Amino acid sequence: MANITFYGGVGTVTGSKYLLENNGRRILVDCGLFQGLKELRERNWQDPPFDPQSIDAVVITHAHIDHTGWLPRLVKLGFRGPVFTSRATGDLLKILLPDSGRLQEEEADYRNRHDLTRHAPALPLYDEDDARRALELVRPVPNDGSVVEVAEGFKASFRVAGHIMGASLVLVEIAASPAPVRFLFSGDLGHYDQPIVKDPAAPPDCDYLMVESTYGNRLHGEVSSEDQMARIINEAAGRNAPILIPAFAVGRTQEVLYLLRELEEDRKIPILPVIVDSPMASQTTQVYNRWNEEHDEEYASILRKKQHPLRTHSMMTASTRDESKRLNNMHGARIIISASGMMTGGRVLHHAMRVLPNENATVIFVGYNAAGTLGRRVQDGEREVRIMKNWIPVRCHVEKVEGFSAHADWQAVIRWLEGLHSAPKTVFTTHGEPDAAAAMAQHIRDRFGWNVVVPAYEQTVTL
Ligand SMILES: [Zn+2]
Repeated sequence: MANITFYGGVGTVTGSKYLLENNGRRILVDCGLFQGLKELRERNWQDPPFDPQSIDAVVITHAHIDHTGWLPRLVKLGFRGPVFTSRATGDLLKILLPDSGRLQEEEADYRNRHDLTRHAPALPLYDEDDARRALELVRPVPNDGSVVEVAEGFKASFRVAGHIMGASLVLVEIAASPAPVRFLFSGDLGHYDQPIVKDPAAPPDCDYLMVESTYGNRLHGEVSSEDQMARIINEAAGRNAPILIPAFAVGRTQEVLYLLRELEEDRKIPILPVIVDSPMASQTTQVYNRWNEEHDEEYASILRKKQHPLRTHSMMTASTRDESKRLNNMHGARIIISASGMMTGGRVLHHAMRVLPNENATVIFVGYNAAGTLGRRVQDGEREVRIMKNWIPVRCHVEKVEGFSAHADWQAVIRWLEGLHSAPKTVFTTHGEPDAAAAMAQHIRDRFGWNVVVPAYEQTVTL
């Protein structure tokens, strides 16, 4: 008999890891890093409750670090099997995993320099070399429903999930006895009519279904990010001062560029110099244009016209540190997009030191700022913040554009589930804070009357 055990993504939106076992074979669906609260992050350091060498294969739904960032650790601990992903996800991992390794190394360095560890020297969870070893195991497959054998007795097929470039729903078919089992993983689901990527593919019929519940108790509302962004940029441009948009280099930066280009073309904002100050952003943009199996109709039609969907009229990219520093000599209204999105590190800090004290300048947040981050402090209206050991006054305009979420809200999840032709035996709601996972479960019971379970950490369920 087959079974599943939940090693992450339960009670939290991070650390997704689901172990499927059948007939002595084991595959892991997603291999995410825990993030956020300390008690969760500590799990990254614990030995896994399974032997990494005993895993036959890993299947990845999408490139976000909370679904992939533990893979180099798994490899460091002895895993040598194949890692199946969509082709675009495989490309994005080449950018994200080495960067994650560098961040782990920097964090260990920081702890050593500041003597924050009782057992010096602090070691990284994994390093850039571990990340590169993990990349060698990646086996890219089309995101179009074609079936691949991932391990003896396990087949998988990937379909567009509409969440970010390359994101997949994954159907795992298990040759279990007495009867085969079809288990569908939603991964992270996008919402309908999101720019750039296609809408989520209809769910294939299945015996068991795991569905994400990030927004299980929330709706996105009607505010359009276009209108908000246009108003803010017009006001900011009138003050003839810099506009800083902190944004994650992979995904959010491309979504912002796409929106700015549209607003320019519709003449809703003036054409301003746009500076993308991130070495990872331009690599990511290339990946975005490479895989047309992921593009929605509008994106595809722009590419067919030989235009660049992620290029504004007057755009420059700073890849090297020198190019980045030269930006400081610019004057007048301009838009600077730089990582990290929550201002926790990276080049955005240098820009923040110059922009925050300028009463004519503007900071625009386009994503979630977690508690305790510099981004949250600025967003919450603190008048003075500490950046690289300096106290910086905050006198600039601070704005927030809603509506950039890449997740379906609960109504969109219900709409997606309506595509199923028959009821699964059990639906599991995962990838949500406890309230959200419970609310999503109840919405599904109310609408369909199905059997829905909110699984617990390390719980095993026989299929
Ligand atoms: Zn995600």
